[in-house]
Amino acid sequence: MKLVVLGLSLSSSWGNGHATTYRSLLKAFAARGHDILFLERDVPWYRAHRDLARPDFCSLAFYRTPEELARWSDEIASADAVMVGSYVPDGVEVGRFVQRTARGVTAFYDIDTPVTLAKLERDDHEYLAPDLIPGFDLYLSFTGGPTLKRIERDYGSPAARALYCCVDPAAYPPLQVPKKWDLSYLGTYSDDRQPTLERLLIEPARRLPHLRFAVAGPQYPEGIDWPANVERIDHVAPADHAAFYAASRFTLNVTRADMIAAGWSPSVRLFEAAACAVPVISDRWDGLDSLLLPDREILLADTTEDVTARLARTPDGEAGSIGRAARARILASHTSAHRARSLETLIDEAGVARASDDKTIINRTPEREPIMKNDRSRTILVTGGAGFIGSHICDALIAEGATVVCLDNFMTGRRENIAHLEREERFELFECDVIDRLPYRLENGRARFDQIYHLACAASPPHYQADPEHTMLTNVLGTRNMLQLAERTGARLLLTSTSEVYGDPEVHPQPETYRGWVSCTGPRACYDEGKRAAETLAFDYLRSGRGDVRVARIFNTYGPRMRPDDGRVVSNVICQALAGDDITVYGDGTQTRSFCFVSDMVDGLMRLMVSDRAVGVPVNLGNPNELTVIDLVRRVLALTGSDSRIVHRPLPEDDPRRRQPDIARAARLLGWRPRVSLQEGLGVTTAWFAKEEALRLGRHQPEDRSEGGRAPLVEAAE
Ligand code: UDP
Repeated sequence: MKLVVLGLSLSSSWGNGHATTYRSLLKAFAARGHDILFLERDVPWYRAHRDLARPDFCSLAFYRTPEELARWSDEIASADAVMVGSYVPDGVEVGRFVQRTARGVTAFYDIDTPVTLAKLERDDHEYLAPDLIPGFDLYLSFTGGPTLKRIERDYGSPAARALYCCVDPAAYPPLQVPKKWDLSYLGTYSDDRQPTLERLLIEPARRLPHLRFAVAGPQYPEGIDWPANVERIDHVAPADHAAFYAASRFTLNVTRADMIAAGWSPSVRLFEAAACAVPVISDRWDGLDSLLLPDREILLADTTEDVTARLARTPDGEAGSIGRAARARILASHTSAHRARSLETLIDEAGVARASDDKTIINRTPEREPIMKNDRSRTILVTGGAGFIGSHICDALIAEGATVVCLDNFMTGRRENIAHLEREERFELFECDVIDRLPYRLENGRARFDQIYHLACAASPPHYQADPEHTMLTNVLGTRNMLQLAERTGARLLLTSTSEVYGDPEVHPQPETYRGWVSCTGPRACYDEGKRAAETLAFDYLRSGRGDVRVARIFNTYGPRMRPDDGRVVSNVICQALAGDDITVYGDGTQTRSFCFVSDMVDGLMRLMVSDRAVGVPVNLGNPNELTVIDLVRRVLALTGSDSRIVHRPLPEDDPRRRQPDIARAARLLGWRPRVSLQEGLGVTTAWFAKEEALRLGRHQPEDRSEGGRAPLVEAAE
């Protein structure tokens, strides 16, 4: 894609943090094959101190006045995306020009969100005015969390998204150098941070005179009473940061007051120190635990005693493992390569939103254009068609005029899910197992299918682990059987693979290019490895010209028609909350998942099936809205008003710690993105389970069941 950036400075890092931010982000973005033009206002201060006048990863041009920007009108108009940064001189005028001229996605990139919002509140429009915000498709912010909602709600941004700072891990490696200090701090003096520095470093130094401390950074006023065991260093050049961090047992992170107030505002220091594998002791603020896990990847301190206890009592082995875990987390989630990929995804998503002229991202399920225009001649096989997702696909296909043949062994599928279809003349059910020989009428060559949606397989850990051999065979033999059937009948086959092919991922979020971290011996392997083998078969059929296949990797999906005894977290928590039973949280609940509502999933699968672009590659389908299991539980408790207690149970073996789809490919190739918010989806699902429960207890009119769960889905979607 072609990106034009209008930012404060790329050429000079003197006296601003913007240039290093742009350099690392844009270098990584260019490495993904994109073209970038950076337009910088030519001002005397930066002109006199240029330390990167000719970047090798993008074009850089200078303009003297906002009017002169007209010279680049064509580039701005034809770019896929145009981004205006915070603190751009005459930023309001520049922003208006961009919004008038650009035809692609427009974004405001706020490296200073708390400052910007404070300025807007006092009508200081130095570089952004409130009326510009709705005109930017994206508001990319260094601050995440609730601030994003505020930008959307109070300022009318169509999509405010976090794009945090990041680190280039090559510049911040773990170094083996002799330890000079027990606790260090690297940062310019600031009034609002000084009390915390006093509490978390200077006072501990007084109390532990036998330990050694260092404070590096400029502008500390005269008159600070530095204890003798605190070494003061005026300046550490960026090239020496890694050595500085490595020379201390621990390093301290202290956050500015406005960033603490907003929360979800990591400083680049935090990521840089963590990348060096030095254990970080940080002050506490909301959202920190979404970036680094407390006690495992970072240590939190409120008081002097917290710090002195850490320094005196943490064994070197434990400190080392926290440092290593922190670096692993940085490598998995917070590098410039991650941010570049996020930027690409966000631009893609905004492009899709723009194309559909829908600037308020996601909240309802729109009417989807039928992908197959009432083509009665199509006959489509859905394996696992009585299951949770499969039955919704059957509904959608019938609604579009296709003839549907449903295959299910009813191990986890349920007759209720398709009961309403059995009266339909274009619907036929075969009860059989994909592992076995197909029924005579399907086997003997008389059946012709245009498409096969191959969903058959138990998908919930307790169900697929109940008979692991059968699970493995379903995926391998069953997929082979279906591929052969597709080959014989000339059908296109869509294989529903899974996010489980990424195992317990070290890369976050997971793009399709990530090859996974999967155990082949653990209890989940029958499913994970089975699906990996199924993908292998599918791509081998494709490569050898024997099959026309599409492969979806489905991430956690929820919605009506999940079994109450499905065993997965959404159905468990909703059913437990509705019944007032204890809510079972496995482990400490900090593991994350990203949950997609079933109607979005069906939409994605159907787009993939008919896509002529998504060929030869797997495509992630899921909702990137990631949250912890505990957060999910809290939402369900709030939604149901339940007073169920939360009880913790042991974390199952090989339970992935994090999962979030990178859906850039689906956005680009299918024009797909999820539209149903978690709040809305949970509301629909909870209402459905409540109704099911009422039916089970006989408190409802029996005829309500005739639609097999369709009614609530539609009601809520409208
Ligand atoms: N989980 C939980 N309580 C439950 C069921 C699941 O805490 O009653 C956790 C589970 O350990 C996992 C996450 O919720 O970390 C999602 O589990 P699920 O079985 O829904 O799907 P998975 O993504 O693991 O296949």
